[in-house]
Amino acid sequence: MKDLALVERMPRAEREVLQVHRLKDLITRLSERVPLYRERLSEARVQPGDIRSLADLARLPFTVKDDFRQTYPYGLLAVPMEDVIRVHASSGTTGRPTVVAYTRQDVDTWSEVMARTLMAGGVGPSDVVHNAYGYGLFTGGLGFHYGAERVGAAVVPMSGGFTDRQLMALRDLGATVLCCTPSYALHLAEAIEEAGLKPKDLKLRVGFFGAEPWTEAMRDALQTRLNIMAINIYGLSEVIGPGVSVECPERQGMHVAEDHFLPEIVDPATLMPVPEGTVGELVFTTLTKEALPVLRYRTRDLTSMTAEPCRCGRTLARIGRIMGRTDDMLIIRGVNVYPSQVEHALLQVADVEPHYLIVVRRDSALDTLEVRVEARAAVAEAGADAMRALEAVVRRKIFETIGITADVSIVPPKTVERSAGKAQRVLDLRK
Ligand code: AMP
Ligand code: ZN
Repeated sequence: MKDLALVERMPRAEREVLQVHRLKDLITRLSERVPLYRERLSEARVQPGDIRSLADLARLPFTVKDDFRQTYPYGLLAVPMEDVIRVHASSGTTGRPTVVAYTRQDVDTWSEVMARTLMAGGVGPSDVVHNAYGYGLFTGGLGFHYGAERVGAAVVPMSGGFTDRQLMALRDLGATVLCCTPSYALHLAEAIEEAGLKPKDLKLRVGFFGAEPWTEAMRDALQTRLNIMAINIYGLSEVIGPGVSVECPERQGMHVAEDHFLPEIVDPATLMPVPEGTVGELVFTTLTKEALPVLRYRTRDLTSMTAEPCRCGRTLARIGRIMGRTDDMLIIRGVNVYPSQVEHALLQVADVEPHYLIVVRRDSALDTLEVRVEARAAVAEAGADAMRALEAVVRRKIFETIGITADVSIVPPKTVERSAGKAQRVLDLRK
């Protein structure tokens, strides 16, 4: 495990030599084995020998989600099916799922980057890892499972759901590490409180939360309610799953496993690289993946990146919190609204639980924004006047944050649907 730490701390110039070498090899593999890339690379007139530095990346063609759909299910594979030992899929909301595949080496690489992810939060052999990410086609469950085994921790393969059983396992099996989506962590925190347990009745120390957008305010809430350090993780199936990036204890951005996944930030309109620190679309090139390598995959996720040294000693570049997706921005009456802004506003109101649903409608020509959010039990018990007063407070907070008046519905506790995996928080009925 020691050498993994070295990989993360090598001088950037030294790492770049490795990256360029791997990038050349990737281009060779892609043009030999994947028809879609052979065509695109020849159109772009790029040959492996043309790659001299990472700046040459900008000459390479992009890959988008639709390329996966068009070649469904196995058209992007760069190895024969005999070499594939695992398949996962990402459901998405519409159309065909995105199918991804792994060779034995890929599963090994994935375990390594997941071990690094867990080690960034100090997880080791003496830990008990409660893994409530979904097992199955979703990459979260098995990704964390293999990573936890690799660091030698004891993994409790819970998967999502059956909250009562989760509580029992958390307490009885002595979990020190919690892995799940932030929305499910909040649900677990509530269930723990309802069961009359206090955070100190549990041994939880650190949580790895990701797979969906969340805010700093949600981090504060989870840290207080579970008495843990909450760590943000980011990954996506098309690149490998979780393991792409993770915060270190400094929690000033997520370190990207750049020796395997080469990140770029581009302007989503012009597709040109943006200056360091500027927000744009995150793009990844997989340097070592065998079964399903991707070249400049456009994630649609918006964030910024910095290569500034981090106090933790890792020399890996860091990406900021995902601020939204190029496709989740809502335009309401001409105003750009990101769901994360609404979450941020809600978390500033002490009397609501951050379980919410955003509903956008078009009545005649006008867009309307409804925000449905749960009241804390005490407010609900206090009666209708208290609920109405809370409604006014929430409406004002949202207006201050996004500049739009929302129809706020304060609903009783437990009436916004819970999810054990990724929460569905936006319902756009205009489409
Ligand atoms: P999937 O491939 O189904 O796991 O979904 C990957 C997508 O989940 C990413 O492209 C992001 O939009 C989202 N995602 C994953 N982790 C995070 C995170 N920490 N913060 C915000 N969004 C995330
Ligand atoms: Zn760091």
